Amino acid sequence: MLTELYSMDVAQSEDTEQYFALGNLVRSYCAKNWSSTNRLYMKKEKKQAYYFSMEFLLGRMLKSNLLNLGILETVRGGLKELGIDLEKIVQIEADPGLGNGGLGRLAACFIDSMATCEIPGHGNGIRFKYGLFKQKFVNGYQVELPENWLQNGNVWETRRMNMAVTVSFYGKVWLEETVNGYMLPHYENTERVLAVPYDTPIIGYGNNTVNTLRLWSAELPAQDEAMDYWSYIQRRNRIESISEVLYPDDSNYEGRLLRLKQEYFFVSAGIQSIIRHYKKMGLSINHLAEKVAIHINDTHPALCIPELMRLLLDEEHLDWEHAWNITINVMSYTNHTIMSEALEKWPIDMISSLLPRVYQIISEIDRRYVEKMAALHSTGKIERTRIIEGGHVKMAHLAIIGSHSINGVAKLHTAILKEKVLHDFFLIYPSRFNNKTNGITQRRWLMLANEPLRELINEKIGNDWEKTLTELKMLKAFRNDEETLKELAEIKRINKAHFAEYVLDALKIEVDPDAIFDVQIKRLHAYKRQLLNLLHILKLYLDLKEDPKTDIHPRVFIFGAKAAPSYTYAKEIIKLINSVAELINHDASINNKLKIVFIENYGVSLAEKIIPAADVSEQISLASKEASGTSNMKLMLNGAVTLATLDGANVEIRDRVGSENIIIFGLTDKEVYQYYQDGSYHSHDYYENNPVLQRVLNTLIDGTIPDAETEGRDIFNSLVNYGDEYFVLRDFDEYVAAQKKIDKLYRDPLTWQRMALINIAGAGVFSSDYTVLQYANDIWDVAYRPDAGELLN
Ligand SMILES: *Cc1c(COP(=O)(O)O)cnc(C)c1O
Repeated sequence: MLTELYSMDVAQSEDTEQYFALGNLVRSYCAKNWSSTNRLYMKKEKKQAYYFSMEFLLGRMLKSNLLNLGILETVRGGLKELGIDLEKIVQIEADPGLGNGGLGRLAACFIDSMATCEIPGHGNGIRFKYGLFKQKFVNGYQVELPENWLQNGNVWETRRMNMAVTVSFYGKVWLEETVNGYMLPHYENTERVLAVPYDTPIIGYGNNTVNTLRLWSAELPAQDEAMDYWSYIQRRNRIESISEVLYPDDSNYEGRLLRLKQEYFFVSAGIQSIIRHYKKMGLSINHLAEKVAIHINDTHPALCIPELMRLLLDEEHLDWEHAWNITINVMSYTNHTIMSEALEKWPIDMISSLLPRVYQIISEIDRRYVEKMAALHSTGKIERTRIIEGGHVKMAHLAIIGSHSINGVAKLHTAILKEKVLHDFFLIYPSRFNNKTNGITQRRWLMLANEPLRELINEKIGNDWEKTLTELKMLKAFRNDEETLKELAEIKRINKAHFAEYVLDALKIEVDPDAIFDVQIKRLHAYKRQLLNLLHILKLYLDLKEDPKTDIHPRVFIFGAKAAPSYTYAKEIIKLINSVAELINHDASINNKLKIVFIENYGVSLAEKIIPAADVSEQISLASKEASGTSNMKLMLNGAVTLATLDGANVEIRDRVGSENIIIFGLTDKEVYQYYQDGSYHSHDYYENNPVLQRVLNTLIDGTIPDAETEGRDIFNSLVNYGDEYFVLRDFDEYVAAQKKIDKLYRDPLTWQRMALINIAGAGVFSSDYTVLQYANDIWDVAYRPDAGELLN
């Protein structure tokens, strides 16, 4: 293969050539199953599910593909004989960061699980030329650099020019009634964009299923090339900018025109290609909902609803009622957040000029909604739930009104949606609401990321768990087996030593593998409360400064977090953490007890390194704010003990492992809502009345922390004087007490390892295999692996 591709032999070839040679080999190895999967779906006219997502945070694919094809060990061994280290060449692959965080990573876990569970399900998104920015720290400040992940090519994708479709923007539209009685739209002066699909095979684990991730790229249509040179360049740049770069905002709404263009671009291209594919089966459009399910991952693809309506009305000439029925039966929607700043709403002017026909349809959906509900519900409720209101189009309302299913992503989150955030809608459409707790793929997050643990588990309970993750419960039989607990400890020690080497190499910080590795890895956001973690570190530092003999087990606090470039407060927190790290890591008097490691450029590849080395999993968001969380699941699966508030899926983790095997602290969601209701939280009182907390907070403004005056002052003010929106000061004492408990438990190795084991044993239910099976069964009504039914229970 190498010889064919590069006319050189192995001895001469460099890592890069070896990587691309192997990648090409793997791609051709799965090509047969890819086309036979498609042929089978077509021949059996299987109902297909399409997962529409603005983001797919895939991570590197070489090892994952080798594992799923069942040739990882063969290839590793074969390469070794040639003197090649597989681990070295997998590093060559660019990590495709086509997502911000949890939402995009969920989409990636889901497509892996759909293929594994033999669900005819595919991803549909955007082929961003630049992924999420590369993060660098300069003097402790976050600096963003472009992530040109396609620079050296992408072996996994196939450009399919023959499947390109046209997407239209702007222009004028008017309707003309034809002799047959339907309204035919006429368009004038539209800007036409060519959407070119790039397909990536999504390989099932241990089966012959290969599904497709279709990512769209925006290009200038060929017929537009006949214009003067400068107009051509300008138009080309304007069009190509649509799929140029991922918006780096997580949990925050970005109201810019380019973002709206991106959303409509991949929605329209995706739905057009689905309908074209459907029609190839020769079926009538009337049966579309029997063969197609479209899932809307958050509201970013909510234009799926008016776009499908547009195609059914204007191209297929169905009447409104009929088209609307089909649309509702096809569409389903996942809500990912209750935070109002993340709820998308587009100004009417913007959407009606960019998408005139789509806006007409949205208006008509809204008009009919108001008309239909008038007889059934109060005016107040209708005004609160309608789509177009206050000069804006509310995307969540559109998604709910146009879907047959609305799901939250953890039990608590779904309950809050029903009772609070979407209560009006719940009263109107009670049967549409359901829960689907998020999940993670054990293939990437255990079998690949933590090979020593995989081996140990296989030794103890066999490998059924690899296909059926709840089988991990068998590990519970070893809870009092000292030998197993020691082996577990030894594996953690090896992973920690491995990570320590990386930290020394990359950051020049020496950390002791026998310290507690305390990990908080997630986007930097005020609601996730990295600050609470930092205040506790400052407390320990002050304790040690006062009395160097303070009895604590050595700790390494590990952070990984990117902040949205426009999120000033989050960037100030990054700077503050880095400044505290400077202070603590260079203070010889406490050096062996505390270290802070803030890893630059957190992403999937780094997560794979950090998670197997974690002892403590920090999941400390303000209760009610984290919809689910998934790093909590990855860390638990790798034997970390969770330190958490009762938020998102933490609640379900506690239910699985029992209160003795998780450390819970802080306000509950109910208490938070109570505070909102009576307005009785005054953070300044906590500052005034709690001397320990006061001493810690004062370090932010008294010069203790080097080179962070502005940041320290701003953060101090936000906490003490401007209300402390996320109740950091309220939860401080309980958090400190919880951390003391961790310290004590860790010093009893058998107790600690027993907790770790019970966490691994209880993590089975969080496989994304179960999550997608529930979507397939309850929402999409699509087929799945025959023996997978029992997994649903
Ligand atoms: C899992 C994951 C996330 C989600 O982390 P949360 O703590 O659940 O917010 C974000 N980024 C990456 C790279 C991940 O792998």
